[in-house]
Amino acid sequence: MKEYYCWRCDSIVPMLEEHEWIKIEPLLRQQMLDIKDYRERTGCDIREGIEKAEKPATSMYYELTGYLENNVAAIYHHRLIDFGPECNNCGYLLRTPKAKFCANCGNRE
Ligand SMILES: [Zn+2]
Ligand SMILES: [Zn+2]
Repeated sequence: MKEYYCWRCDSIVPMLEEHEWIKIEPLLRQQMLDIKDYRERTGCDIREGIEKAEKPATSMYYELTGYLENNVAAIYHHRLIDFGPECNNCGYLLRTPKAKFCANCGNRE
């Protein structure tokens, strides 16, 4: 796990490395299914579903990072391999592996 700024969350978050990602990916699927099931059973909204359904991925993410994240969608995009390398000027991650410049400081690689 490494901490980087996430564009979508607009904060510093723990990004998962591949050896961590393989542990959490099946749990993310499970957690999404649990939320869906819970909502189907109770007719509640997505917010309540996220809060009340089983949270196997949230638990694993907490175990790996010490960071409590109930939002599965957020964990889903905190996969390091989906981002580019660190900007050699400001240290932020490039937004995608193919990005040619840093969206934070405008530096070109
Ligand atoms: Zn994020
Ligand atoms: Zn930069």
